[in-house]
Amino acid sequence: MSSLLIIEDDELLRDGLSAQLAQVGHAVTAAADGEAAQLLLESHRFDGVVLDLGLPKISGMELLKWLRNRLPALPVLILTARDGIDDRVQGLNAGADDYLTKPFNMAELQARLSAMLRRARLPAFGGTLEVASAATCRLRVDATLPQAWLGDEALELTQREWALLSLLVTHAGRVVSREDVLETWQSEPGDGPGVASNALEVYIHRLRRKLVDSGLNIRNVRGLGYMLESTTA
Ligand code: CA
Repeated sequence: MSSLLIIEDDELLRDGLSAQLAQVGHAVTAAADGEAAQLLLESHRFDGVVLDLGLPKISGMELLKWLRNRLPALPVLILTARDGIDDRVQGLNAGADDYLTKPFNMAELQARLSAMLRRARLPAFGGTLEVASAATCRLRVDATLPQAWLGDEALELTQREWALLSLLVTHAGRVVSREDVLETWQSEPGDGPGVASNALEVYIHRLRRKLVDSGLNIRNVRGLGYMLESTTA
């Protein structure tokens, strides 16, 4: 099942699309304009977007550019009017993954969407990293954004917390030494002298709290460092 965002101001079409895509097993969220879509995109994780280019408030094209800045890896299929060839070219140039001309056939939309989502899941697609293999793990990390999610919810992380989490994730199941973490932190641009080693405990503690219910735990490996592991392991 994929989580999809439908952005379409035509109520009839929006409801029809939502119902049909939900019927084939997708989790569908709908937005009637660009502003509503931005709010949803900032607070939820989606696997793909269906975007109408003719929208009130914020145009579809503007929204597409905004989206490409923030979520470069998110697949987007645009819907355009039959005579909107310029829009179509512009849309593809602005980073849409595919397009359909209105009126379109629902079966074709579903086929195009499936293909788009399948392509997006290929490992070569980007820096998305699924943590460990545990079925219970709810953490998802995208190093290219960078952004992390617990389920569909975006995790609020400071720069240091993010650096710590991404280090643990890329070494999941292995020990990361305190020195490794401190080195990563020191190499952050704009940082002063390295954080005192005991501050690390504080950050580990905060990150642990944010990872409650994630299915993951940061284990203290005495004398060696820390290890990200599945709580069911
Ligand atoms: Ca429209």
